[in-house]
Amino acid sequence: MSNVLITKEIPSTAKNYLEEKGHKVKIACGFEDNKALLEEAKKVDALITMLSDKIDQDFLSHAKNLKVISNYAVGHNNIDSNFATKLGIAIGNTPDVLTNATAELAMTLLFAVARNAKSAMRNVSEGKWQGWEPMGFHGVELNAKTIGIVGAGRIGQAMAKMCHHGLNMNILYTARSKKTEFEKQTKAQHVDFENLLSQSDIVSVHCPLTEQTELLFNDWAFKKMKKGSIFINTARGEVHDEGALYDALKSAHLFGAGLDVTNPEPMSPNSKLLELDSAIIFPHIGSATVKAREEMALVCAKNVDLGLQNKPLVGDVNNIYS
Ligand code: NAP
Repeated sequence: MSNVLITKEIPSTAKNYLEEKGHKVKIACGFEDNKALLEEAKKVDALITMLSDKIDQDFLSHAKNLKVISNYAVGHNNIDSNFATKLGIAIGNTPDVLTNATAELAMTLLFAVARNAKSAMRNVSEGKWQGWEPMGFHGVELNAKTIGIVGAGRIGQAMAKMCHHGLNMNILYTARSKKTEFEKQTKAQHVDFENLLSQSDIVSVHCPLTEQTELLFNDWAFKKMKKGSIFINTARGEVHDEGALYDALKSAHLFGAGLDVTNPEPMSPNSKLLELDSAIIFPHIGSATVKAREEMALVCAKNVDLGLQNKPLVGDVNNIYS
């Protein structure tokens, strides 16, 4: 029997699955700090972690019994996977099962920004709605626009397909490799980052947070974007510089921005972005559908059970058993 710690409550599917497989499961309610998490992690063979748990070299070196860490997310930038590999710890994530949920959330932000949802909703809720307004709330029509997908992987491609097939949009994309099948399906064009910025009416971020993508969207990048364009980020907040984004919105160089992720996270209630009607911000809810979260819980549990048997995981980040 192995001991498994889940660092925060997730759907009970995970606990039930692991208990059926004979493991002992403890669910925490989050931890005050990383030190407190480490003390508990030292006692177990496997962890199911949240993207807010920082699993760095120091943590990994001290949690001597760990064989598997299964992240309740597809992004795993919170875990030093290279170091874990050196220690023989399997790292898991939850690809595919949250792709549609996250792409749909990116579309939600895009529609909301394009049609001034924040100021329109406030107009009603604050009792300022006087009647049909011929000259107010003019937004951007999305049909046949050009969208630039930064990171055309699972989620980026899913969003691009919605935009192409649903809204007749032209698709530009960046990725480390060319995506031939995706190009056939959507007539997408692989372009370099600068061309994507200067030619897109909408830029949507779907790349992982890495050393290469950290602060990719800085002052230079926002200035390269077309005047009146829209920025959407549902990937990781550290990919954009929030001060530079504020300047681009405040000066009306950008029409608007939709963020599901912020830099830092959680966002400070004093962030200047909150003052802008053109910025619509969600509290990192990309995968928050009942279906996606249930399936993520099951994948996480399977990752743990497989890793404890020295077998390849379902969502396998460092492939130490394949
Ligand atoms: P994925 O399938 O691995 O796609 C990532 C894409 O980014 C790949 O196409 C990759 O290119 C590309 N990429 C990597 N480095 C790049 C760079 N420097 N410049 C441009 N493109 C680069 O991952 P996914 O499942 O779509 O998830 C993407 C990210 O979304 C995750 O890493 C996570 O951070 C975020 N996410 C957020 C939420 C949320 O709740 N908001 C939910 C799920 C995921 P190659 O294919 O050529 O390697």
